[in-house]
Amino acid sequence: MAKLCIFGMAVLCLFGSWSLAGDSNAALRERMVDQQIKARGITDEATLKAMAAVERHHFVDGRLSARAYEDRPLPIGHGQTISQPYIVAFMTEIVKPKPEHRVLEIGAGSGYQAAVLAEIVDEVYTIEIVEPLAETSAGVLQRLGYDNVEVRHGDGYYGWEDKAPFDSIVVTAAAEYIPPPLIEQLKEGGRMIIPVGSPLRTQQLMLVEKRDGEVQTRSLMPVRFVPFTRADD
Ligand code: SAH
Repeated sequence: MAKLCIFGMAVLCLFGSWSLAGDSNAALRERMVDQQIKARGITDEATLKAMAAVERHHFVDGRLSARAYEDRPLPIGHGQTISQPYIVAFMTEIVKPKPEHRVLEIGAGSGYQAAVLAEIVDEVYTIEIVEPLAETSAGVLQRLGYDNVEVRHGDGYYGWEDKAPFDSIVVTAAAEYIPPPLIEQLKEGGRMIIPVGSPLRTQQLMLVEKRDGEVQTRSLMPVRFVPFTRADD
């Protein structure tokens, strides 16, 4: 019996260290959350938990996966980028996601922001204008089991009318102005976060709130995003 226990413990230790080695990315994620996200003032528990859960290294090219948890955006091909982790966390926290929510994202890119939202809310709809990115992100999200995310190829300017209204809308490309269809598709009491300004310069991250049918906007911080393009650009 004693022998069996010692054997059992050895097996446990062996498995324990294996899983630790295999999950060094989990340690990198914990560090990312502590040093880049909590340290800069993000406090929403659901957001922090989602950032610690989503395996960001699957959303970048294999050659960049060792850099996935760095404090910076990374290229995802087609001239586009996956945002810096802190910006993803900031945009997630600010829309106040709740489990029963339905969220629209414009600019699926790698699919990472959609995955973070999908950890928290019931339904995520995301639109991507670059077809190969729409295909790749849909594939990664499916492979990782995010079956509450739907990816569509198209111009996000028009939103996703047959799934509207949305509790929140997250726009991850810089628009010259807030597309009116997105304001229309925002629920009463809903929140939209969108970088607004010239694609060539620093933009303002704006919070748009719809209250009693009125639209209120507030600038939150300067940011740099890739441009919001149009289908006929
Ligand atoms: N949320 C992404 C960030 C991608 S960068 C992520 O987590 O990886 C922004 C993306 O917006 C790019 O992939 C770009 O192709 C896309 N985009 C730009 N204009 C768009 C539009 N009008 N409709 C949909 N997607 C758009």
